[in-house]
Amino acid sequence: DNAQPKKPDWIRVKAPGGQGYADTRKIMREHNLTTVCEEAGCPNVGECWSQGHATMMIMGEICTRGCTFCNVATGRPDTLDAFEPGRVADAVQKLGLNHVVITSVDRDDLDDGGAEHFAQTIRAVRHRAPGTTIEILTPDFLRCGPDALETVVAAKPDVFNHNLETVPGLYTEVRPGARYFHSLRLLQRVKEIDPRVFTKSGIMVGLGEERAQVLQVMDDLRSADVDFMTIGQYLQPSSKHHRIDRFVTPEEFAGYEKSAWGKGFLMVSATPLTRSSYHAGDDFARLRDA
Ligand code: SF4
Ligand code: SF4
Repeated sequence: DNAQPKKPDWIRVKAPGGQGYADTRKIMREHNLTTVCEEAGCPNVGECWSQGHATMMIMGEICTRGCTFCNVATGRPDTLDAFEPGRVADAVQKLGLNHVVITSVDRDDLDDGGAEHFAQTIRAVRHRAPGTTIEILTPDFLRCGPDALETVVAAKPDVFNHNLETVPGLYTEVRPGARYFHSLRLLQRVKEIDPRVFTKSGIMVGLGEERAQVLQVMDDLRSADVDFMTIGQYLQPSSKHHRIDRFVTPEEFAGYEKSAWGKGFLMVSATPLTRSSYHAGDDFARLRDA
């Protein structure tokens, strides 16, 4: 049965517009940068861009994986652009961001999975915009040696985010090509390499998972020493993508949030419109100033 549940009224999306939105868009275009806000069709783009907050996507617009929830095209990726780290740094400076989120497509075609390119981007932003805190949202480096992750962590991002995306039982249908325990271990290794880096992960709900499975993911993340957790409603980018099993109610989200705080995360965001990068800067600033 392919019928989709009707969108409830708590999924309200503000249409993008306004000066701040236009300014952010202009800077991104001028620097020839891709944003996940647009690629993923994120429902928060109006709000985030009007506040000068955006998530940049490096290493091209074509991914070697084909996650069934994701709107990014799958195929043979572009060659790496050696000038991209500089353009990202320039845009971050022009946008005057307090906090930037930098993510990428998966690059299974590269020996290091793009680790060195990530590290160069972090260093370029650090150099050009020293006051900006840097959050990276990385692929899983599944086919790389251990040095790939070490290269990225050595560049000292403030927050290392890698999303588990869903409960382990749904991996084959939601995240084929990825391995739940590999991703969990990746997060744990970040802390082992540099305990000063905050670690973060998130899942989408409404894909068919059970509550008990979500609570198990929380426990798994805490046992891997992960600091921050995000939980948001999965929204289907198009009818070709994974179906929405159901809309999780705001009350259920509040329950998840309470459970997550109880398990000891330092930062939790669990609402229908929570995205991995939604309000990431505000949350991080609050934590840092606490
Ligand atoms: Fe972009 Fe993240 Fe905001 Fe969505 S929540 S618009 S992806 S910064
Ligand atoms: Fe999308 Fe990331 Fe999966 Fe690639 S690896 S298809 S960018 S979610």
